[in-house]
Order: sequence, then structure tokens, then C-alpha cells
Amino acid sequence: MYGQPEIRLYDTLTKSEKTLQPIEPDTVKIYVCGPTVYDYSHIGHGRTYVVYDSLKRYLSLRGYNVVHVVNITDIDDKIIRRAQEENRDWRSIVDEYTRDYFEAIEKLGIRVDHHPRVSDHIGEIIEFIERLIDRGYAYIAPSGSVYFEVDKYEDYGRLSGRLDKEYWSQEAEFLGEKKKPYDFALWKAAKPGEPYWESPWGRGRPGWHIECSVMSSRYLGGRFDIHGGGTDLIFPHHENERAQSEAFFGVKPWVSIWMHTGMLTVGVDKMSKSLKNIVPLRDALKKYQPGVLRLWYLHVHYRKPLNYTEESIEQAEKLYNRLVSAHDLLLKLQREMQNPHYLNNEDLKILNELKQVYVDFHKALSEDFNTPEALAAVNKLLGIVYRDIQYNPKYMLVSQALRILGTANYVFGAFEEKPVYTEAGEELEKILGLLIEVRKELRKRGMYDIADTIRSELLKYGIQLMDRGLETTWIRIKKQ
Ligand code: AMP
Ligand code: ZN
Repeated sequence: MYGQPEIRLYDTLTKSEKTLQPIEPDTVKIYVCGPTVYDYSHIGHGRTYVVYDSLKRYLSLRGYNVVHVVNITDIDDKIIRRAQEENRDWRSIVDEYTRDYFEAIEKLGIRVDHHPRVSDHIGEIIEFIERLIDRGYAYIAPSGSVYFEVDKYEDYGRLSGRLDKEYWSQEAEFLGEKKKPYDFALWKAAKPGEPYWESPWGRGRPGWHIECSVMSSRYLGGRFDIHGGGTDLIFPHHENERAQSEAFFGVKPWVSIWMHTGMLTVGVDKMSKSLKNIVPLRDALKKYQPGVLRLWYLHVHYRKPLNYTEESIEQAEKLYNRLVSAHDLLLKLQREMQNPHYLNNEDLKILNELKQVYVDFHKALSEDFNTPEALAAVNKLLGIVYRDIQYNPKYMLVSQALRILGTANYVFGAFEEKPVYTEAGEELEKILGLLIEVRKELRKRGMYDIADTIRSELLKYGIQLMDRGLETTWIRIKKQ
């Protein structure tokens, strides 16, 4: 239809938009820092997860294979503290909140390719640290903890824009044994009662940052295309990941593009557990359809903060309803369509308007994934549907509008596109389900003749059964 624009994304490191040029030409590899599973995932987390999921959908629409990795931090100070406070095994905390995370992202329609957990990668983490020690980037303290020596890495602070050492201090609790206040732990010696793993430096557990360097390279290789997370992670987490990875792999840049999502805020505050202002995703998903939340997240540019108010979610709900109704209307028009159709000049004008919507939609997403602009294009589409196409349902107009709406919905993941064949309603679905079960039983017992009769009788009503092994699905087709 028209040449696709190149995809540009803002890179936090160079503070500029960069053209996406995947290291492997057809595949974009994305790593996103995922949840520390010590509490329920909240709608702030949801924003970050949905943005990268939509980006992934857009990249696959543009013809790329996308590999999307999100880590699960299942060993961490916060988890240990919570286990101690509640007098529970840390693993049961991890299990509970990992389950909560999976349920939430499943409902939100987010599909991730790998979800590596820290506790499954301890051996690799130890090997990574050993090599950093061998290369002179890390040192072992008397306690058995291992620290990264920031002064050995020449480019520290550039990602976060903290070029002055004065602003690098971190992990103040280890000041007593670190060479410099800004060195950070790669391995933490275990205190009594804490979970631990054996290591060449004694019992302990990984520091926070090392896991992401190890697990990203394990699943994506020593260099990859996009590293994501929220802006809250730029310092120290991503600064540290970058330092230790570039030191380890001897590559520069380690990742091509650093992307950061703005925080979900409540007034001026970040939504976070420590500020006690969170709305758990599981609660929000009881109140709002997943697609409403997704549209709400995407109606503001991903780099800007998004302020939580119920009114703004209700606005997104209105848009959601408009999208679903327009889609239903177009499907209905398509079904009832009579041939032949002749396109007059007025129709051609509308077709051109539709084409412009499509061009604007793609342009917006290609320019730093501008979802609000893309939604503005979709809003124009809705205008055309209700102003013109509804009263003038020519084949080309309806099918083009449906195609654009379907494309946009693919990226936003807003609503389920119910296929026409479920139109007959819930009751028919149930009856067919029952018949399918009966037929399965018949086939199990070798009574294929009756099973076949059911199938051919249903065909007369425009229902085609499709067998795959003992499982059967159905679609509606033209009556025979
Ligand atoms: P956490 O479990 O807090 O480490 O966060 C998991 C992911 O969610 C990280 O990529 C964070 O940057 C992101 N995140 C945490 N809080 C928020 C928030 N309020 N708004 C947007 N993203 C967030
Ligand atoms: Zn990380």
C-alpha cells in the first residue's frame, strides 16, 4: 500500500532517537526487567509490561521475529524481609506472587517468550562473577561478598546522566568493606537465617544487578537490541548492568537501545509498594476489562508519566466500547453485504481518507512508538465508519476499515475479535459443545458411523466439525 517508515526509538544512553537495526536482521531481541515477587503486581508494573508487549506486537506486525525475555527476581532482600516478617519460607512468598504475576499478565494478553528465574541460574551467575574477578573488575571482601569495582569501568554514569562520582553512591550498608562508596555487590555473603547457595567465596546469594546481565545473555546472547524497564531502574540497576556486561563481554554498546517507560503516578508520587499507594492489578482487572486497561496505558506516550485517576480509565472504557461497537458494526455490514458494488468518486474519497488513517497509524508507531498519535488515527477511522461507511457500506470501504481496525487492535491488544461464527450465541455454543462430547465418546467406542452422521447432519445447518485426534472444533460455514 505504501513504503513502511523506518522504526525509530528513543535511546536513554545517547539521549536521541535511533533507527532500529537489529543485530540479526530479521529478529529483534528484547529484555525487560520484570517483577521482584514479594507482593502483588500493581497497575504501575502493568503499564511497563503492556508497553513492551504492544511494542512486540508492533514489531511483529512489521515483519520481525521478536524474542521477548522478562526475568523474575525470586531472590532478593525484600523477599527475605517479607519471609522473616511473616515467618514463612521465602519460597512460598515467591510462589504466591509469581502466580499472581502470571495470572495478571495472562489476563492482560501479554505473551513473553522466556521468564527466567534467578534461582534457576545461580551456577551461571557464579561463573560470570568468577570471570569478572579474573579480569580484575571485581574483588572479594573478607565477609565473602564480592563487589564490582566501578573505577575499573571507564564509562560509568553515562546512561543515567550522572557523570559526577558524587552521585554514584549506593548500597550504603556495605560501606565498611567496599573500596569505594559506589561499588556494588555481585555476590552477598549469607547472614544467619538467610537463604544461601554454595560458592567459591562461601555461602551467599547473588546481588540484584548481576542476574539481568547473566540471564539476558543466556537467552539473547552477549549483545542484543532493546533493553527495557521503567525509568526507576536507570540508576543504579541499569547503570550497573551495563558496566558489568560491557566489562564481561568486552563489547560496546552492550545493547543497541535502552528504552524506559515513564512511571505510573498517583499525583506526584510513583505508584509503589513502599509509598502504600498501590492498586493491585488483580483488583483493577476485576473492575475493568483487560482491554480497557491496555488502552488506558497506551493513551499516553510511554516515556511520559501516566497519572492514575478513575476518570481517565473511564475515558479509556468509552474508547474501548466505541472500538468494539465499530468492529461489530463493520462485521455486520460485511455479512449483510449485497453485490455488486460500484465505487463512485465519493467512495474513492473515503478510501483515500482510510488510506491516510493507515499511513498516520504506522507513522505514529514508527516514531518512537507514539501510541497516543496512533490512537488519534484510529479515532479518525471511527469517525469515517460512523459518518460514511455505516450509510454506504460498499465492499472496499467496509473491508479496508475492518483491516485497519484489526491491525490497530492487533497492536493495542484491546478487544477479542469474536469471529462471526460465534454470533449464534451462547446457547448454540453449549449445545454444540455437548454434541461434540457425545461424538467423542462414540468415536472412542469405535461407533464411527453415528459420529459421521452427526457430522454430516450438522453440515446441513452450516456447522462444520473439524477433528484433530479426538479433539474437535467447529466453524460456521455457508449452509450446504
Ligand atoms: P519491580 O518489581 O518493582 O522491580 O518492577 C518490575 C517492573 O515494573 C520494572 O521494569 C519497573 O521499572 C516497573 N515498574 C515498577 N513500578 C512502576 C510504576 N509505578 N510505573 C511503571 N512501571 C513500574
Ligand atoms: Zn534488570
